[in-house]
Amino acid sequence: KFRSSRPLPPVPVQRLPNEQIYSDKRENATFVILCRNNQLWDALRSVKEIEDRFNHRYHYPYVFLNEVPFTEEFKYALKHIASSEVEFGLIPHDHWFQPAWIDEDRASKARQKMQDDNIIYGGSVSYRNMCRFNSGFFFRHPLMQKYKWYWRIEPDVHFHCDILFDPFRYMQENNKTYAFTISMFEYGATIPTLWGHVKDFIKKNPQYVAPNNAMGFISDNNGDSYNLCHFWSNFEIANMDFWRGEAYMKFFEHLEAQGGFYYERWGDAPVHSIGAALFASRDQIQFFDEIGYEHAPYTHCPRQGNNWERGRCSCNPGHNVDKDQYTLPKGRKDRGETIEAAAARETYE
Ligand code: GDP
Ligand code: MN
Repeated sequence: KFRSSRPLPPVPVQRLPNEQIYSDKRENATFVILCRNNQLWDALRSVKEIEDRFNHRYHYPYVFLNEVPFTEEFKYALKHIASSEVEFGLIPHDHWFQPAWIDEDRASKARQKMQDDNIIYGGSVSYRNMCRFNSGFFFRHPLMQKYKWYWRIEPDVHFHCDILFDPFRYMQENNKTYAFTISMFEYGATIPTLWGHVKDFIKKNPQYVAPNNAMGFISDNNGDSYNLCHFWSNFEIANMDFWRGEAYMKFFEHLEAQGGFYYERWGDAPVHSIGAALFASRDQIQFFDEIGYEHAPYTHCPRQGNNWERGRCSCNPGHNVDKDQYTLPKGRKDRGETIEAAAARETYE
């Protein structure tokens, strides 16, 4: 075991010449990493990369969340790799586990069917817990309450470029709500009834729908059906006050009441994406081309302007999810247009 029984010595923080200046300008923001104890080494590598590429200049804190307590070994390692404050939180029971009112008979039949149909994570309860937690609960965790902004990171992801600006500051100063690097299609079989419930909600609560929303990103027929496009939520930088606000909270409660996180396999990516697209104005959704990012099997590598050169990127801009057919909206495929370009155009226009 990795020094688990020893008391933790104080962590020396090395200061680089410029960093005090940056630190003074920090936004009210944190990294958030949900993970299991057995993902220690993958989490460590993700944190090391974001430190080297960005956070050694800014020292934004980290919040680690888990439904079981983190081990001493986990805490020891992560505290030492980070250049900033690190907190470890236990997720409240009801924020994670399947609610008692869910009909387990119905839920288990649905899981069995999805597993038989070879749908990814189709048979998993813990994956469903995770999706529901990320959809509606992480921003309510006691350790997250004090922050406005978060940057979601997962174990085993890669940051391929120097991030030479502060994305939180950019979001704050430009009135942004939600930022992404990769977008793609959801598996329709995981959300057969989701869009119907979305439509019910906005019919009953039209006041929540933003005037200049991004419905055009998630629907090709002005809201009649969902085109399955979503922002890939393993990377997110967003304003938690948006999730905590009345529109999204009511929306989440409406979805939660349907039981679809368990009777189907609703992902936090489509739920967040639909929420952001409908309740934020489209110019509040930000595509960060500058941030080279990889979560297997997909990579976003900067392609705009001289972002690749400036970021000293270690990714191949030619091997890019932006060009992958799977991530292209059907109607746009023929024109060879990437979803990022389409989303960016929609948000920048
Ligand atoms: P995928 O990216 O959709 O394949 O899903 P992942 O397995 O990467 O899970 C998404 C995030 O939730 C990752 O940060 C995982 O570490 C985390 N996660 C998934 N399942 C669990 C779980 O049962 N417990 C905890 N604590 N974290 C989990
Ligand atoms: Mn993942």
